[in-house]
Amino acid sequence: MSQENMRAMMFLGPGDLELQEIPIPQPEPDQVLVKIHAATTCGTDAKAYRRGHHLMKPPTLFGHEFAGEVVAVGSEVKNFSIGMRVVPHNSAPCQVCFHCKLGQENLCEDLIFNFGAFAEYAIIPGPIVRLNTFEIPDHISYTQASILEPLVSVVHGQRILQIQPGERVAIIGAGGPIGLMHLQMALRSGASQVIAVDLSDTRLKVAEKLGATAIINPNRTDPVEAIRTLTNGMGADVTIESAGAKAAWLTALNAVRKGGRVQWFGGLKSGETIDLDTHWVHYGELTLYGTFHGTPLDVQRSFELINSGVIDTQALISGELPLERVEDALKMMIEGEVVKMAIRPDLPAQ
Ligand SMILES: [Zn+2]
Ligand SMILES: [Zn+2]
Repeated sequence: MSQENMRAMMFLGPGDLELQEIPIPQPEPDQVLVKIHAATTCGTDAKAYRRGHHLMKPPTLFGHEFAGEVVAVGSEVKNFSIGMRVVPHNSAPCQVCFHCKLGQENLCEDLIFNFGAFAEYAIIPGPIVRLNTFEIPDHISYTQASILEPLVSVVHGQRILQIQPGERVAIIGAGGPIGLMHLQMALRSGASQVIAVDLSDTRLKVAEKLGATAIINPNRTDPVEAIRTLTNGMGADVTIESAGAKAAWLTALNAVRKGGRVQWFGGLKSGETIDLDTHWVHYGELTLYGTFHGTPLDVQRSFELINSGVIDTQALISGELPLERVEDALKMMIEGEVVKMAIRPDLPAQ
């Protein structure tokens, strides 16, 4: 097998992807080699494609959400064997640093990340094999299982917010995959309203289908005003920003009620700042949350949410494309035409 090649989408720099033939990697003693059956496109991939990413030094393998079948295991691997259907999370913490010891493994000083989902095969690094890889139950497809990674971050954010029964929630950027998962989680937590704000009507339709109580397109309606109108002039108890855009950060800040909670979920470019009315934060007694990634606890819980069907993973997948068309899939995401696309290496090039 060591002589064989595979096709892999390489990230060569912003706007520059190339499908290359590279050797199939061989697992080290603590690693697992997976034949990828499905990978999903992510907002992070789209961002990296557009403007680069600090964790991706080109040229590098690309994509981080995948599921597949174990085809080789290292000599020290005990918990997985050839033929198993598995889904790995994209990272694992060191478990020994300051933050890991405090139970904040998402902030680990030595978090390792795994890239290479848009390829025929991928290695799962040892720490991820030990901590954050799961055998997929028969009733869950590879594509559905691939949703694990983004759901982990959503579950982490939701655990911070602790939405209470009857609360009114507004999600800014609700039509993206992250927003649609926040929407489902908020409804499950007993929110009385979940208001979906998004620039794409296509995506807002998905939000509506998943239970959004109102949909707002800022291209036509001022979202802050609309959210206040829907909440008796008060503003939402909780606002969640999941668009990764400055305007959305500000909408989340300005559409919350006095005493409310804001969660800024979508990362902006490094160094980017927003204007914050300190008077509003102080006298409004706002609680402002940043949130990043998730812990092994969140990974475990997310896996349960996928398996139980509590999270509708199917609704997040707008279609399937072969490996050759990763770039098209990302462009469709950027245009807001799709939520997520599944990339299937077994599909013939079109
Ligand atoms: Zn992702
Ligand atoms: Zn650590």
